[in-house]
Amino acid sequence: MAVETMPQAVNVNRGAGTMEIVWEGGRAASFNLMKLRRICPCATCAESRGENPHPGLLEARTPDAPAPKKSLGLPILGDVNKFQIQGMNHVGNYALGVTWQDGHQSIFSWTFLASASDPATPV
Ligand SMILES: [Zn+2]
Repeated sequence: MAVETMPQAVNVNRGAGTMEIVWEGGRAASFNLMKLRRICPCATCAESRGENPHPGLLEARTPDAPAPKKSLGLPILGDVNKFQIQGMNHVGNYALGVTWQDGHQSIFSWTFLASASDPATPV
């Protein structure tokens, strides 16, 4: 894995609804949490967007990671919960696991985030 796709720090600003990643080397990228949720690469979200799921990402989930909660049958709690981060965890050394307030879990590989990131500050 290239060094520029490993994070130094990940900061969530719940008030602003953004997540900032500082990559090794110091380049920072910020993500709008709504955008981040919408680009969730899991099979459920990919199917809901009409895309082919990425089975490789699902198979890469660590065995001891909790299974994603099935929240599809529950009443919709509203977009506020859907786009708020409840917690984050490292998945191995290659990905960031995000648990959303509505119980959905996303796994974003660092390379995926690097390719999807917008520069926080124009160079
Ligand atoms: Zn998803």
